[in-house]
Amino acid sequence: MEIEVLEKNDVNMRLLIRGVDTPFVNALRRTVLAEVPCMAIDEVVIIENSSVLQDEIIAHRLGLIPLKTDLNGYNLPEECPCKSEFGCNLCRVSLTLDAEAKEGTRTVYSGELISENPDIVPVSDKIPIVKLVKEQKLKLEAYARLGKGKKHAKWQPVSMCTYKYYPQIKIDSKRCDACGKCVEICPRKVLTKNVNKIEVRDLIVCTLCQDCMDVCPQNPPAIDVSWDENTFIFNLESTGALPPKRIITEAIKILDKRLKEFIKHVKVKTREKS
Ligand code: SF4
Ligand code: SF4
Ligand SMILES: [Zn+2]
Repeated sequence: MEIEVLEKNDVNMRLLIRGVDTPFVNALRRTVLAEVPCMAIDEVVIIENSSVLQDEIIAHRLGLIPLKTDLNGYNLPEECPCKSEFGCNLCRVSLTLDAEAKEGTRTVYSGELISENPDIVPVSDKIPIVKLVKEQKLKLEAYARLGKGKKHAKWQPVSMCTYKYYPQIKIDSKRCDACGKCVEICPRKVLTKNVNKIEVRDLIVCTLCQDCMDVCPQNPPAIDVSWDENTFIFNLESTGALPPKRIITEAIKILDKRLKEFIKHVKVKTREKS
């Protein structure tokens, strides 16, 4: 397997993965979505709520606020030595909110949540929680814990994780008369006309829709779009809970551990039979 980083910043990562098959990349995608833990609010004690939203809706909205996660500093509740349903300092973070509309109507934002750990805070201060009119109040205590996407989507560390085959575009220069129809129809502007020649401008953004083949007046089309079945473009967008690189490395570690467990079980079963 060969991996090339095509793009990387604080939230996005795009990789080119060569020499693997679909089940492997899909297993990696599913591990990212379902198994890599992150922090989310999962218990809320409402002390006072005179807003128009019911307690349950506010609790649900709080749960969906992405929180910056410290994977090294906290345990998953089910793996924490405290074995307590309530949790301890190693498996739970408390956040408080005390908001009141004193002057007039106002919006309560995620930035008003005060965390006991300054490293576990909302990724954005600008996520609206509720709107209060004059004299309405919202006071609560929330508890965030590590969890996995397979239990609830609020624990998914990514807002998007996809893959697609690596496109291959061939233009038969002998039969192409450079009419430009394929350039015009392409929704992703993959192709460009350079004097009397059609060239590929940005291969990676091709969606393999094959509209360019359908519109080509030549029979068979002078342009051919196909894909390499063992090369993939893997895209990941973090919610901000964890850096994209950490999400991928955690997913690989989890996948590796599960495969080792699988091999161990197969060996035990084989020994039992013999
Ligand atoms: S397959 Fe679709 S996206 Fe790709 S070059 Fe052709 S028209 Fe553009
Ligand atoms: S539509 Fe066909 S003939 Fe026209 S420029 Fe594209 S490949 Fe060439
Ligand atoms: Zn604990």
